[in-house]
Amino acid sequence: MEKGSVFAMALEQLNSAAKLLKLDDNILRVLSHPERELTVSLPVVMDDGNIEVFTGHRVQHSSARGPCKGGIRYHQNVTLDEVKALSTWMTWKCAVVNIPYGGGKGGITVDPTKLSDNEIRRMTRRYTVAIMPIIGPHSDIPAPDVNTSSETMGWIMDTVSMMRGSTVLDIVTGKSVELGGSLGRREATGRGVMFNTIELLKRLDKDPKKTTVAVQGFGNVGSVSADLLSKEGCKIMAVSDVSGAYYNPNGLPIADMIAYCTTSKNRLLEGFSAAGISKISNEELLQLDVDVLVPAALEKQITIENAEKIKAYAIVEGANGPTTPDAERILIKKGKHVVPDILANSGGVVVSYFEWVQSIQSFFWTEEEVNKNLERVEVDAFDAVWTLAQREKQDLRNAAMMIAVDRVAKAVKARGIWP
Ligand code: GLU
Repeated sequence: MEKGSVFAMALEQLNSAAKLLKLDDNILRVLSHPERELTVSLPVVMDDGNIEVFTGHRVQHSSARGPCKGGIRYHQNVTLDEVKALSTWMTWKCAVVNIPYGGGKGGITVDPTKLSDNEIRRMTRRYTVAIMPIIGPHSDIPAPDVNTSSETMGWIMDTVSMMRGSTVLDIVTGKSVELGGSLGRREATGRGVMFNTIELLKRLDKDPKKTTVAVQGFGNVGSVSADLLSKEGCKIMAVSDVSGAYYNPNGLPIADMIAYCTTSKNRLLEGFSAAGISKISNEELLQLDVDVLVPAALEKQITIENAEKIKAYAIVEGANGPTTPDAERILIKKGKHVVPDILANSGGVVVSYFEWVQSIQSFFWTEEEVNKNLERVEVDAFDAVWTLAQREKQDLRNAAMMIAVDRVAKAVKARGIWP
């Protein structure tokens, strides 16, 4: 496996849970291999007439419990190894919240800030056609992820619909509401982060109104997490994006910052100013003296380099894979609580599931219904993980993984290995 492999990190987490579950080695071998990995070349005519060729992937880790499900990301650091890891995490994520999906993920190696909207649209349509042989409403359902949005999903849905000759609503989730998307989907991942944080604070007998928070990342997940936690009374002391970290020990005006990003260049906080705000580095944000740290950016942000210096007693993983296993051991040893990605950021895929159900039935729910059902799923899943962690004297990741891996393993066993 390549050096610094993210998939190796996913396997390490799987092996740890497998050991605790005394999982049959045969089943472990099955779960250690993604079912299908597709790599595609994407020639795109750029606005200047030149042709660029981008590389994309779609990986299906497991379909044991249902269709593969997971987002598509556009980022310059996307690799097949990363997409394999992300698809594996999707399998556990869907299993821990008990929605009837397996795991998949896609990505294109591209810095979308360097492309025009028209170039991104052409690239998206080309990618869609390239992965069309393996996606479908009952086989693999994409959704947004880093640097993709409801707009991207609309293009994917339209491309598939044009190719098929009829409108296919349930091919993607995270669509805009006009295209059959679900109310509450955009905020769902951040809302799930909020529910998980509040549940943890309850178990630790802490008052949200006396809780300070730092959020790394101010995209869809980070910004909504910060907003909803501040509405619960938490003080958001710092947030960051690629333009840097913004800090105010008295609390940040999150609503103003979100409003600023709706019109700023590349939706970044660059240039935002308000009384009492100073700029700090991303590393300083991670090491701030706050109660809760929400890493909501990319993988491998908390590593052995900085884990000792993390002061927050709770880390709620809004991103996928932000903490390396070595770093997590340090945090756990110091008595910190890490709410793992597969649980903490599962709100997005849970409402994706609600959207898919609504699309299939062509019967749409109110936002209140969506949020209520999301709360029920998240609170129940948190409770199951917390209870198992207490009973088995395990950290929250091991407990979440034990529940998830056990469910997937049982599905694999019940189906049997074909032929
Ligand atoms: N990309 C999101 C995730 O990592 C959402 C996936 C989905 O809704 O299918 O969980």
